Amino acid sequence: MTVTIHLKPHKEESVLRFHPWIFSGAIARIDGKPAEGDLVDLVDNKGNFLAIGHYQIGSIAVRVLSFQQEPVDESFFRKKIRSAYQERIGIGLVPQPSNNIYRLVHGEGDGLPGLIVDVYGSTAVIQAHSVGMHCVRTLIAGILVQEIDEIKNVYYKSEGTLPFKANLGTEDGYLIGCESDSTAIENGLKFQIDWQKGQKTGFFIDQRENRMLLEQYSKGRNVLNMFCYTGGFSCYAMRGNAGLVHSVDSSAKAIELTNQNIALNFGQDTRHTAFAVDAFKFLENIHDTYDLIILDPPAFAKHKSALHNALRGYQKLNAKAFEQIKPGGILFTFSCSQVVNKEQFRLAVFSAAAESKRNVRILHQLTQPADHPINIYHPEGEYLKGLVLYVE
Ligand code: SAH
Repeated sequence: MTVTIHLKPHKEESVLRFHPWIFSGAIARIDGKPAEGDLVDLVDNKGNFLAIGHYQIGSIAVRVLSFQQEPVDESFFRKKIRSAYQERIGIGLVPQPSNNIYRLVHGEGDGLPGLIVDVYGSTAVIQAHSVGMHCVRTLIAGILVQEIDEIKNVYYKSEGTLPFKANLGTEDGYLIGCESDSTAIENGLKFQIDWQKGQKTGFFIDQRENRMLLEQYSKGRNVLNMFCYTGGFSCYAMRGNAGLVHSVDSSAKAIELTNQNIALNFGQDTRHTAFAVDAFKFLENIHDTYDLIILDPPAFAKHKSALHNALRGYQKLNAKAFEQIKPGGILFTFSCSQVVNKEQFRLAVFSAAAESKRNVRILHQLTQPADHPINIYHPEGEYLKGLVLYVE
């Protein structure tokens, strides 16, 4: 039997503006007893149909899949995945011999809240952020191999992203196929992707275009790539003919990956060195060494409650970089915290510049690429913010 969720008066307004999240506080009553991950109908306080979505216990109680009365079944998901794939073809991202790394499904941005699908050559990695998407993982995996010829293996990686309250006993592993070639290509550069143990689905695909821009600025410069993880920015800087490239990450595993990726593309090129140290410590002793610095730290705030400290963190980090960078240097600085918006991030960087008393000009304002689209009704989806700055 369909479960119906009745919203409190006026709480339908955001749904009528197609916002895909219903917070638990908006719910007046629930007819039926939904299990986590069940499909539920949403109605306003007069009983008018509003939407259908996945139910979950927590602050976001419903993630909307459709604003129409339609079955959310295999053909629904097939249609959505086809449309997401067509969009990636439409923007010229696939198929491309020089690139087989892309995000195929970007949650709310592709009308599938709670679902991420990243593709690395013949392997797709599914990451569920909602119990509802966890429940349909096998269905999704089947659709992926049927719809996209190149996809032969589907790995499920959701241990770290599903709510622990649901007690799902989820295990990461292959839903279809098995371990295969884990070297994939981004813009002609090879990367070893560790989707089993790596962060996110194994790679930060969202920085692809920003890495391309960095390549253009690298010629002859001494580049410092802070928070390097797989060494993505470092590889582009190397290809862009940087004078030297130093990669820094506090994780030894990340440094190992970076060294592997550099070797994969550039052999034993002595221009590159990687350091497994804390970023803040490293920044203490590098005065006037670098004229191109990349700051791409992990999300300093995962929740609104941490916003204030996160902004302080961004300010402190950027102030250090401004103090140390050579005159005429270029700073690529990023924030991937969803709760920090563009204006707040810019203000933190502005405060850092003022603190260091350097003259700073904004050259580019960066964001996420088109395979990480932002649903216009869900502004929260705009999470990656970057600034390219000229430091006089
Ligand atoms: N720039 C990367 C992604 C960075 S992810 C890319 O393009 O792929 C953030 C990285 O910061 C992680 O690898 C994590 O290990 C590292 N990290 C977290 N805290 C750190 C710290 N205090 N000092 C140095 N690295 C840190």
